[in-house]
Amino acid sequence: MISLKYVKLLLTYRCSSACPHCIFNCSPRAEGLMDVKRFAGCWEEISESCPPDIFEVQGGEPMLYLDRVCLMVELARSGGAQERWVTTLPRDQNLSAAEIP
Ligand code: SF4
Repeated sequence: MISLKYVKLLLTYRCSSACPHCIFNCSPRAEGLMDVKRFAGCWEEISESCPPDIFEVQGGEPMLYLDRVCLMVELARSGGAQERWVTTLPRDQNLSAAEIP
């Protein structure tokens, strides 16, 4: 069985910022959001064929959809993946894995 190091989820193109250098053209007006059911199907396929060590959540700003992304993280955790977050939150406000419900 092949093992992946990373799986990265670009949860949304929506972001509280609109940086001119953004490679995904994210902004407060951008649309596009992964739904939980679709993610669950993708995650099941990935887990069965090549379970990743790390699940990285990014966007856009994933914290804009905290309830949704926490469901996805729980699914990834249940498969043994560690999660990482790419967020615009200041470092001292960033949530550790232990603080996420
Ligand atoms: S995702 Fe990052 S680079 Fe893109 S607009 Fe948001 S803060 Fe800026």
